[in-house]
Amino acid sequence: MSASRKIAFIGLGIMGSPMAANLVRAGHVVTGFNLGQAAIDKLVADGGKGADSIAAAVADAEVVITMVPADPQVEQVILGEGGVLEHAKPGTLVIDMSSITPQTSIKVAAAAQEKGIRTLDAPVSGGEAGAVEAVLSIMVGGGEDDFAEAKPLFDALGTTVIHVGPAGAGQTVKAANQLIVAVNIQVVAEAVVFLENAGVDLPAALDVLAGGLAGSTVLNRKKANMVDRQFAPGFRIDLHHKDMGIVTAAARAVEAPLPVGSLVAQLVASARANGDGSLDHSALLRGVERLAGRKVN
Ligand code: NAD
Repeated sequence: MSASRKIAFIGLGIMGSPMAANLVRAGHVVTGFNLGQAAIDKLVADGGKGADSIAAAVADAEVVITMVPADPQVEQVILGEGGVLEHAKPGTLVIDMSSITPQTSIKVAAAAQEKGIRTLDAPVSGGEAGAVEAVLSIMVGGGEDDFAEAKPLFDALGTTVIHVGPAGAGQTVKAANQLIVAVNIQVVAEAVVFLENAGVDLPAALDVLAGGLAGSTVLNRKKANMVDRQFAPGFRIDLHHKDMGIVTAAARAVEAPLPVGSLVAQLVASARANGDGSLDHSALLRGVERLAGRKVN
């Protein structure tokens, strides 16, 4: 176990709530703040402390972790009035683990530096199950020394923890992650409709595919959702839509073409437009079914 740190944890949602609990379990003093009170009460029940504002959460913290939905919330929570930079002590290490644009992470790092506050961008992959089981992949951008200091905390949350470069680099890698995952889900969904139309035993087909070169974590984790048409999130299509916007813009900025990724971004947008935004991203299958002329309820 690492030395006990005083941690403020802001954003106790699907991911943040189990992550904060894992930090408590690792022996840290975790004070949580969230927009809904129920998640704060759950952290207290898990052995943490509750705060009624960002100011109260960060006042005494050595490390501040944020895990909120998207760029506007990160800007508000860290840079905004009453936010982290206004109230954290100089020398505090602020770790944003939300998935946002690399540009916002760079902006946050620059604003923090002016106040003598250090930052890391450390988005994650592995979903709710990965957060609960503390087996996340964590891709970290920022300074070497700050990464080394934060490593014991990351080790309480995940099993693959890698420093990938300076501020913003973690978000760039996460954007690539979301590109690979979306395209992978889309083609698995296309294979499912193809196999069903051809009259093949679907579970048997997916099991054998999972053992060969077509196998993937996406296929392993999502094949049951697709076979059973169970699309409770997990990872919402709304959030994946946000992430396809991030990767599309980030790739454009560095003149990297994403022909297939751009097409899949449109299919994610279409899923949302068809009312599937709150379903798990494996529900991209429903879009393929619509294209195949099936009635999707
Ligand atoms: P969520 O919507 O379940 O949780 C977000 C939490 O942030 C909510 O509890 C909300 O109350 C809180 N919040 C929002 N604005 C706030 C504010 N101003 N002050 C305090 N709290 C505030 O989202 P999630 O699924 O936990 O995802 C969080 C981030 O992690 C997103 O960027 C997402 O893309 C990323 N992510 C999610 C998954 C997943 O499987 N759900 C996996 C990897 C990465």
